[in-house]
Amino acid sequence: MDKKIATAGWGLYPLVAASVQRARYLSDLGSAAPPILPQGNCRSYGDACLYERVVSTLPLKHLLDFDGQRGLLRAQAGITLAEIIRFALPRGFFPPVTPGTKFPTLGGCIAADVHGKNHHAAGSIAAFVESLDMVLADGSPVRCSRSQCADLFWATLGGMGLTGFIYAATLRLKKVSSAYVRQRTIKTASWAETCRVCTETQHQYTYSVAWIDGLQTGRHLGRGHVLLGEHASARELEGKPPFPIHGDGRWAVPFFLPGGVLNSKSLKAFNALYYHRQVRRSTEALVHYDPYFYPLDSVRGWNRLYGRRGFLQYQVAVPYTDGAEVVADLLGRIARRGVASPLAVLKTFGPPSEGLLSFPIAGYTLALDIPLRDFGTIPFLRALNKTVVEAKGRVYLAKDAILEREDFAAMYPQLEKFKAVKRKYDPERRFRSCLSDRLGIT
Ligand SMILES: Cc1cc2nc3c(=O)[nH]c(=O)nc-3n(C[C@H](O)[C@H](O)[C@H](O)COP(=O)(O)OP(=O)(O)OC[C@H]3O[C@@H](n4cnc5c(N)ncnc54)[C@H](O)[C@@H]3O)c2cc1C
Repeated sequence: MDKKIATAGWGLYPLVAASVQRARYLSDLGSAAPPILPQGNCRSYGDACLYERVVSTLPLKHLLDFDGQRGLLRAQAGITLAEIIRFALPRGFFPPVTPGTKFPTLGGCIAADVHGKNHHAAGSIAAFVESLDMVLADGSPVRCSRSQCADLFWATLGGMGLTGFIYAATLRLKKVSSAYVRQRTIKTASWAETCRVCTETQHQYTYSVAWIDGLQTGRHLGRGHVLLGEHASARELEGKPPFPIHGDGRWAVPFFLPGGVLNSKSLKAFNALYYHRQVRRSTEALVHYDPYFYPLDSVRGWNRLYGRRGFLQYQVAVPYTDGAEVVADLLGRIARRGVASPLAVLKTFGPPSEGLLSFPIAGYTLALDIPLRDFGTIPFLRALNKTVVEAKGRVYLAKDAILEREDFAAMYPQLEKFKAVKRKYDPERRFRSCLSDRLGIT
């Protein structure tokens, strides 16, 4: 346990020297020496999964029970969504909520209360978690749910690993008739049109996400493609086998790209090509779930494209009141500063879950990658955070590495309630992370 290795989240910033213990049995969680942090597959971008002592839950990947009638799956926390899909899809089930990669663990998804392209219709993963089997700071096991230790349950959903180890969880899966999604793509010419299409179509489709050309300013600001989707029924398959599962990652980025290769010129050209590849305003296609939900997973190690210094993913949610104007303002400031971000994603959120530190609030959410090129980037993003605070919005902790304490406290009004539950179950503050130290979550 004492040998330290360099660890990082998906954004490769910051780097933290950590001793990593791998948990194989339930007893490994109870005996881990504090202070400690549970770690999943490090698919959070910033420092939420980092600390000087971590317990990796990756070896805990057993399926414990499956009720095929109700789609109830009980599994250990270290199983990844990819592994759940491999088991569940041939049986006609799919994760009810999925982030944009299939490599996070079940425990990591619950700890971040992840959202998918269906938040406007289905909410975050909290809506589908029936119960959690946890190991607390004093080493004792406890089961929590909406009716049993409910305070612990709602602090853990979105609690970023700070309330205890999730050992196992029971998740209600979604019944599907095939591995395919009927995708409709609408090309939009401006920010106003993108927002209008997103809000007008959100009650017609289960899945909705907009890719935005984040490098445009002026009248092209916010142009993009809105991708709408619905699970395809068996009779729509045009002779395709109903449940094929793709392999993981066909291409790989074997080394760090030099920082200057992805400059704003090359990215602008890439974005223009991507934007104009669709000629018609609206198209429909039958798409396998893998490229629909997880387009980035086809390139292993794509995070190295931004170079050794890494990058930040900036994701905010802003309420619908003034939300369109506020997000346009953020997009414009980012584009004018020339902070290259080929991938900007806009989604709409429905009502929040009861998770005390959960991220989604009803409104727009914008996410974009910001490469760490110069010393000005972090102060620049912190200035954007002030605008987000004023708009009563918030930054997603699972993506964050730079938020300041006062802004965090203003963004998450249930913080004091969370701290009280944490003090109740972890009075000696045994569960800590770089994020919790930075933000003062004690
Ligand atoms: C390409 C990409 C796309 C993404 N898209 C989305 C998206 O659309 N929506 C979204 O919500 N998120 C998205 N994410 C973020 C990702 O889903 C979350 O950060 C998730 O928490 C990562 O899970 P992980 O297993 O890698 O956990 P880690 O990154 O290792 O840890 C994340 C947090 O979970 C805690 N944790 C992990 N396991 C346990 C456990 N067993 N018990 C208690 N706490 C635990 C950790 O302490 C940490 O605070 C995306 C990430 C990537 C890389």
